[in-house]
Amino acid sequence: MKAESGDSIDLDVIVVGAGFSGLYILHEFLKRGYRVHLFDDGEGPGGTWDRNNYPGARVDSEVWVYQFTDPEIRQNFTFSEKFPSWRELKPYFNFVADKWELRPHMTFGTRLEGASFDNAESLWTARFSDGTVRRARHLVLAMGSTTTPIFPKIPGIETFAGESYHCARWPKGEVSFAGKRVAVIGTGASGVQTIQEASKTADHLTVYQRTPNLALPMGQETYSEQEYAKMGPLIGSAMEYSKKTFGGFAYDLDSRPWADRSPAEKDEALRRNWDQKGFRYWLGAPSDMFFDEECNRDHYYFWRDEVRKRIKKESLIELLAPTEPPHPFGAKRPCLEQWYFDAYNQENVDLIDVNAAPIECITESGIVAGGVAREFDCIVYATGFDNCTGALAALDIKDAAGRTIKDIWDEKYLTYLGKMVPGFPNLLFTYALQSPSAFLNGPTAAELEGDWVVNTVAKFEETGVHRYEANLDAAHRWAEKCNEVANMSLMPKAKSWYMGANVPGKRPEIQPFIGGQLAYKAALDEEMDAGYPGMTLATSSVSNVVAA
Ligand code: NAP
Repeated sequence: MKAESGDSIDLDVIVVGAGFSGLYILHEFLKRGYRVHLFDDGEGPGGTWDRNNYPGARVDSEVWVYQFTDPEIRQNFTFSEKFPSWRELKPYFNFVADKWELRPHMTFGTRLEGASFDNAESLWTARFSDGTVRRARHLVLAMGSTTTPIFPKIPGIETFAGESYHCARWPKGEVSFAGKRVAVIGTGASGVQTIQEASKTADHLTVYQRTPNLALPMGQETYSEQEYAKMGPLIGSAMEYSKKTFGGFAYDLDSRPWADRSPAEKDEALRRNWDQKGFRYWLGAPSDMFFDEECNRDHYYFWRDEVRKRIKKESLIELLAPTEPPHPFGAKRPCLEQWYFDAYNQENVDLIDVNAAPIECITESGIVAGGVAREFDCIVYATGFDNCTGALAALDIKDAAGRTIKDIWDEKYLTYLGKMVPGFPNLLFTYALQSPSAFLNGPTAAELEGDWVVNTVAKFEETGVHRYEANLDAAHRWAEKCNEVANMSLMPKAKSWYMGANVPGKRPEIQPFIGGQLAYKAALDEEMDAGYPGMTLATSSVSNVVAA
């Protein structure tokens, strides 16, 4: 039953996180008449886009799939770029918040610090950093997978006297690189975008690279209002189609076996996907690219040869586009680039390979690597996140045995369908460990996971289930499934955040479910249709366990 005022229940649902996932869930609960409130420690709606405001930060998904599918939103907000930047995404999220009338149901600037579950009443009490305490039957954590930034442990890092920033904690005001000696550490998606921007204005830019980014050409386009309006029907059908694809994009993997193709057919497929730009060359590739070494190498060599055409400094060819693949192509997330490889042709841009010249320390005035000290005015840490597990593992929430989610994951990565952890009743999460979100187009994942969360809670509320908890054996089965799928692929052969290999000390194991959108949806639907056999449910009137 939904909470009535006067109940000891303050709310039906507490949602944490105001990115795509949290906003969608809030909206869906409100539509169904639940008492729900969302909390976020940012300044406003947007989640990752509220925080990752570094120069050049933009999304790698085409705009026609990088938005909510609600026609009321889609038909009334105009984007001007095929791959919008944070400058356009922030107003978009504010538009959504107003259109869906979410503002009275959201509080910003406060962080979930901890929560405890009252077993007698089956209620969560959540504590927030501003002193707020709220009680609800359901706790939904939509905190995202790129939430917890990693600062490298470099001796002397705190002594640097110049400006220093992590891409994920960029100051709200403008930061100018103009005329400065800038260092960027890291060449993931955040690094590539920052490097492109810094190369334009920095007096000198030095990039510290550990692994080359097998970045793909973005193919950015800009639109006038009229041009964007004309694309309306196409956007609608692209969204429809994206719900049926592996990665949530408006194109799909191609299942025809690589080995069955003639050399001419292989060349044609490589060229076609490359020329169409964006992630086509990755998530529109032959599916064999993720499993078959030969197909994968063919993709790498084609990428290498295309990129090498753009690199003019002889000394950088092997560093940026090595003869042999540094890892299987696409097993580490590539990103989209615009003038990334061209930037290295400029006189003001240098690349340091930290494998040959490891960073030894940071001093008051700069960085010492390979015995060479370089002075900087500004150091940018584009060193990534504790993806998939970081946000949930940081919470002070304990099970009946006093263990946190981190304690459990330190032993074994266990979730029930990437939605719950055994021992934590009535707590659901999205966009985290063992869900496909980190391997899916964001809004597609948010709606897929959000629908299941909201429908599950609604089902329980309607049938009087007041307590639900994931079963340990079901969580073990899902963890096995995640590993089984990953082990069939080439993913474990890359040291990537998909494998948890980017965080020193983190146990390497596949983090997202990489079986794709449809396989995940099938698993979620199957559980729901079968009455949640992977959970233990208890109704309000009967204290013993009942079947749904
Ligand atoms: P990331 O992909 O984890 O990249 C971190 C980079 O820092 C890597 O190049 C890593 O090298 C390097 N690094 C880490 N510690 C280092 C050290 N001690 N010394 C030298 N180099 C070090 O992080 P990210 O670029 O922030 O991206 C994370 C994810 O966020 C992306 O994969 C994507 O899902 C999302 N994102 C998306 C966009 C977009 O859509 N355009 C933009 C930004 C982020 P190694 O590779 O050797 O580990």
